[in-house]
Amino acid sequence: MYDVIIIGSGPAGMTAAIYAARACLDTLLLERQPMGGGQMLNTAEVDNYPAVSDIGGFELGKKFMEHVEKLGIRQVTEDVKSVECTGEVKKVVTDKGTYEAMNLIYAAGASHRTLGVEGEEKFRGRGVSYCATCDGAFFRGKAVAVIGGGDTALEDALFLSKGCEKVYLVHRRDTFRGAKTLQNRVMEAGNIEIVLEAEVEKITGGETVEAVEVLLKAKGEKKSLAVEGVFLAVGIMPQVELLKGQVEFDENGYVLAGEDCRTSAVGVYAAGDVRSKKLRQIITAAADGANAVADIVKE
Ligand code: NAP
Repeated sequence: MYDVIIIGSGPAGMTAAIYAARACLDTLLLERQPMGGGQMLNTAEVDNYPAVSDIGGFELGKKFMEHVEKLGIRQVTEDVKSVECTGEVKKVVTDKGTYEAMNLIYAAGASHRTLGVEGEEKFRGRGVSYCATCDGAFFRGKAVAVIGGGDTALEDALFLSKGCEKVYLVHRRDTFRGAKTLQNRVMEAGNIEIVLEAEVEKITGGETVEAVEVLLKAKGEKKSLAVEGVFLAVGIMPQVELLKGQVEFDENGYVLAGEDCRTSAVGVYAAGDVRSKKLRQIITAAADGANAVADIVKE
């Protein structure tokens, strides 16, 4: 029986583990991937985490992990199959065993959203990608398109512009929601062409991607962008399947919890990108991990 089980070792889960260790809580950190870090691992560059400017996401994830390891927290690489949130004792069933704890910090993070257009599924892994840092090298010297207007799309476009001949940044509106500094850098890059108010209609090709067909909404015209890669950066979806029916959610599917990360189930906390909140960044995920443990200690 643990004091706390943490599910997920992104910045929220790892910070929770660090705070739990410092509070001398008997803690188990569960993560299905062999390497902790979550979405950080797929981020080319992180320039808004204090004290470590200009750091790669992979490297930052490694630093978090080293900190967790130094504190001797028990970690297991197992895939969580179900959780039981009701009742005083929380039960977590994985592909390898069953664990029990008095508290559960659910920090499973988010996965990429799909666009749902023709060709997306057909060309997945054959030109369609959701991870620029993972797959960008396959498109060295080629033309690619990035779809989206948030931080991820802007960062992906910048990352790809370093190795690709040309990057089309296709966004459905006339303004980006991503950080202004990233927008400025995108404008300055010589090989990024911004295509605004453009709706992706389909991704086409033979064996692999050859083009993205877009509708330029303001002009009412269709345009075909000749590309070999399409990077979809149209947002994230919280990984909350395991909690369905057990806690309350907001209208967008995030777990309802305040700054203390308490969910509607007593002893169950939602931390990081799964939680209903305004700003989803590494630093706010880390803050959630700290707040959740502080609340457990206070109880
Ligand atoms: P996001 O901020 O939700 O942006 C998603 C983008 O995709 C939006 O521009 C959205 O358009 C567009 N989009 C959504 N559905 C679409 C559709 N069906 N067709 C076309 N376009 C569509 O997602 P994100 O960029 O992945 O970022 C997720 C969170 O992580 C954010 O909170 C972000 O700030 C954070 N993040 C932070 C950093 C960093 O700090 N370094 C890096 C990456 C991500 P609209 O604008 O029209 O809605």
